[in-house]
Amino acid sequence: MLCDVCWFMLRGQREFEWKGTYDLLFKHHQKVGSLDCSAELKCSICRILRDMLPDHLKPLAKFPPDDDLSVTARLSVQRTHTYDPGVSTARGVGNQAITTEVDNALYRLDFTLEFHSFKKQRTFVLKEIGQSLEKSY
Ligand SMILES: [Zn+2]
Repeated sequence: MLCDVCWFMLRGQREFEWKGTYDLLFKHHQKVGSLDCSAELKCSICRILRDMLPDHLKPLAKFPPDDDLSVTARLSVQRTHTYDPGVSTARGVGNQAITTEVDNALYRLDFTLEFHSFKKQRTFVLKEIGQSLEKSY
């Protein structure tokens, strides 16, 4: 299950920010209460993000819901790097090459969570399942 923030980020690109790269950058949760509420609703992503917090910042409910925190996300297409050692000849090893292929079925979703002086990153790998999903309320 995904909360509305995660759902609309992934399906509707809500809160998308242009930073001059091909990766998609998003503002995710920006308030303590918003992240805590989504985690309590059992959002698969937000529960993990909230659990990253150290013990002295748990539970989030002890902080005012309007307190600022920062969760940002970067969504990119997963790239596969292949190393080709080249061809061996009598004079040694021939040209070596690293080829990079884009795997359109896998996406990398990097989150950065900042709260007080705490900062941590977490990466999720998403796989396209080829189905169109509708949000149910
Ligand atoms: Zn969420």
